[in-house]
Amino acid sequence: MLTKFENPIYVTRPVLPDLESLFYRLEEIWKCKLITNNGPKHNELECILKKYLKADNISLFSNGTLALLLGIKSLELDGEVITTPFTFPATLNALKWNNLTPIFCDVKESSLNIDEEKIESLITHKTSAILAVHTFGNFCDVEKIQEIADKYKLKVIYDCAHTFGSHINGKAIGNFGDMAMFSFHATKVFNTFEGGALIYRDEKLYQKLNLLKNNGIENSEEVRLPGINAKLNEIQAAIGLEVLKLVEEEEEKRKKIREEYIKNLENVEGIKVITKENSCQYFVIEIQKEYGKSRDWIHEELKKYKVFTRKYFYPLCSDFNWYKNLESARPKNLAQAHKSVNQVLTLPFYGDLEIEDVKKICEIIKFLKEE
Ligand SMILES: *Cc1c(COP(=O)(O)O)cnc(C)c1O
Repeated sequence: MLTKFENPIYVTRPVLPDLESLFYRLEEIWKCKLITNNGPKHNELECILKKYLKADNISLFSNGTLALLLGIKSLELDGEVITTPFTFPATLNALKWNNLTPIFCDVKESSLNIDEEKIESLITHKTSAILAVHTFGNFCDVEKIQEIADKYKLKVIYDCAHTFGSHINGKAIGNFGDMAMFSFHATKVFNTFEGGALIYRDEKLYQKLNLLKNNGIENSEEVRLPGINAKLNEIQAAIGLEVLKLVEEEEEKRKKIREEYIKNLENVEGIKVITKENSCQYFVIEIQKEYGKSRDWIHEELKKYKVFTRKYFYPLCSDFNWYKNLESARPKNLAQAHKSVNQVLTLPFYGDLEIEDVKKICEIIKFLKEE
């Protein structure tokens, strides 16, 4: 019989900045007394992230949701946007707040990302964009998606919340499509406690996004458009400057943890590893029929051992009350998404997780199969 963990093991643990270095940065803020509205720390972080993410153009925001919402706004899209049901609600909410209708496209079994082979059949004269998510850090087929977008003159936006710092064939992940959103939420590999960014191709958007995130205020005489407040403040920026120093070490640790999980789980019948190579954001498996027990059952059983997993991204966004009557939201059109969303399980994954604990979590999962 396996014993339970002494302390609860959660699915993630935030990367926290070194306190002493943070104090030093706070002192600088206190001295200069600029605490928001594009202060020096904000500008420094913007500059450093621009290099880190190899961005042509970048803007920072108070969180990822507002970054995406305002990014979509700045592109002046209308009508319909083809997207995935298998994502965090923020992706869809950013469309809703822009009065855009999502057209749900089923996902691929291998990556749980939008199925590029099914996109074209969903395009109508109302389609203005494709909003894709690199779910769990698995890469979308960026080439095929761009091909379709070029053919039909659609904009392409990527939700890169799970792919901070990733590259596809040497090209930085934010440089695909017209625009990419990053989230710096506490749970993300790089965090500013709360925060977000957009990377985009069209440099003219920089000024527009500045207006959009600052209530449209051009100067003391002029308000140019109905914006909102989505500015990243100086404390968020200071945290970001310190956390960024820790990201690579965190990623190295997570890579070892991922390898350990894969080594212990990939040959277990009925367990499929979803996050194979790229992602340092989550470690996700599917509990398939051959495992002999349901995902919901194992999710509950693991709690008895004080292991708290998550069912990301259950429920599907297409099942939200305000979307479920759309033709594209019908379960028969989203068969793979419906199957996978009842099988996925996100396991504890963070740099401070001991390898011994990873082994034990795997032992429990194997033991539960035989129980
Ligand atoms: C975290 C996340 C976001 C944005 O979240 P914020 O908390 O607003 O920064 C958007 N999409 C996905 C897929 C996410 O995981």
